[in-house]
Amino acid sequence: MLFQQGERLGQVFGGTRMQCCLCSEAPDLISHLFFQCPFTISIWFGSKWQVRTDSLPNLDGRELVSWILSTPQLAHCDTEVKRQFTLFGAVVCDKVWKARNGVFYNGDNADPRIVLSQVNTVIAEFTSVENQLVGDSNHVGSLESTNLQRHNLSINGVRIYVDAAFKNGRGTAAIVSRDSNNRILDLVTDSFEASSPLEAEGHALKMGIQLCQGRNWEECSIFSDCQVWVKAVERRKVHTWQLAWLCLSVFNLLSTVHVNVYWTPRVCNKSAHALANWAFRLNLSGPLSI
Ligand SMILES: [Zn+2]
Repeated sequence: MLFQQGERLGQVFGGTRMQCCLCSEAPDLISHLFFQCPFTISIWFGSKWQVRTDSLPNLDGRELVSWILSTPQLAHCDTEVKRQFTLFGAVVCDKVWKARNGVFYNGDNADPRIVLSQVNTVIAEFTSVENQLVGDSNHVGSLESTNLQRHNLSINGVRIYVDAAFKNGRGTAAIVSRDSNNRILDLVTDSFEASSPLEAEGHALKMGIQLCQGRNWEECSIFSDCQVWVKAVERRKVHTWQLAWLCLSVFNLLSTVHVNVYWTPRVCNKSAHALANWAFRLNLSGPLSI
């Protein structure tokens, strides 16, 4: 983590030491901001974990990350509890850092109760997406009984589910790849400017093909719930002239890999749909660790 703390800036520019923006009671240091500041203490202690971070020693950035990843207090707890705590710690640091910057740069008012509520919302959303990803295997049966029978297919290789979210000129594409045992291989998101939901869906499809290409998967099927794109691919025909550039890019990519693109009902595309909506709200881009 790289933070341009006031302390550092003060040293660089020869100014006086800056005080913490959230409490004005101590120098603006990482250990203070994330553990010792009364603002943050109330978030840690007010959470379900009820951690007294003010009793911890001063930690630098590296030690802080290490403490969040393997808290000695949870040494005897099971892996899932440790994982939840790490997620909580990471989200707290992110939200506190943003609250601090809001005060520092924009003169916002920061309220620890609101920040804790934001933290809990992010974690609830993440857990919901995770649960849907786990439950995704349930709908493969229905997928096989509808779309695949219609296509008279048997799917053996990697499946890539693609979907996109769009609103107000911004889109997020999400792809979920699964092996033949339905285990998740990749979760990838990308947020970008877009002119329409159709453009965002096309971008998701393109990402799916690029993933297949990048991994050199020889047997790969892509599932999209966007009929317009699936038909365009089947016929290799541009569907909208405004998106001709994207259509041609997709067709061109498809000529380089052995991959089939199928339409699937949205109900059978839950994992990519949930991932796209979640990543859209957080404006995320990049692969997620599994
Ligand atoms: Zn403070």
